[in-house]
Amino acid sequence: MLNGIKMHDEKISVTDLVKAATCPMQLYLAKSADRGFTEPVSYTVAKLVSYHLGEPLFTDEIWEELEAILPGNDDARRILEQMIAACSKVTWRHADQYEVPVFSKKYGIYGRVDRFFDDSFSIIRSGAAPAHGVYFSDRLKAVCYSICLEEMYGKPFYGRIEYLGSGTIRSVVVQPQDIRTFLLALRLAEKAVKGEIPKVIRGHQCLQCRFAGTCSAIEKPKSLFSRMMSKT
Ligand code: SF4
Repeated sequence: MLNGIKMHDEKISVTDLVKAATCPMQLYLAKSADRGFTEPVSYTVAKLVSYHLGEPLFTDEIWEELEAILPGNDDARRILEQMIAACSKVTWRHADQYEVPVFSKKYGIYGRVDRFFDDSFSIIRSGAAPAHGVYFSDRLKAVCYSICLEEMYGKPFYGRIEYLGSGTIRSVVVQPQDIRTFLLALRLAEKAVKGEIPKVIRGHQCLQCRFAGTCSAIEKPKSLFSRMMSKT
């Protein structure tokens, strides 16, 4: 305890905390899987475009840089052209810094902010924005970074999500409900990181989960034989 505040020993990444909030089993399985995770092409493109936001976006200039990372990738070229068309309709702020490491000693979490300004930060997403507001996982991530930056700099920082797929900027103002969601997610993440087998939260997130094929939490369609046996 420090000044009445419980210090957390665990070092949990913001990415893991968000995974735990979506489905703690997903985080548990990710921790036990030894295979690596390949970054989606659209994310690589979005990160590179984000370094140019706030200045004129020239497709060929960014493509030249992209080719050094993903040589001869037709998908990357197509995504880049669509992203630049969407982002060129919007006025963007030029960031002061990129990929800024952030942490909270109080909560034992850490992460990396995509675009950093002296009063705020942006999280980059490669997809399109939802019809209203921001996605749950994006909001929780923004809440985590706001908490980290406020602790590091002693002043509030506001966050925004930049959906480069649709060229949309959405702000996130932290509400008391967000802090409750954060604390709950932190507890779930701490348990999963310690290796405790978590409770399963089945839902629409299973459709996009990379463990959907192996997760024992998913009820597999029963064979005719087992259906007949269960009736006897
Ligand atoms: S398939 Fe569903 S229940 Fe299983 S880990 Fe993924 S999200 Fe969680």
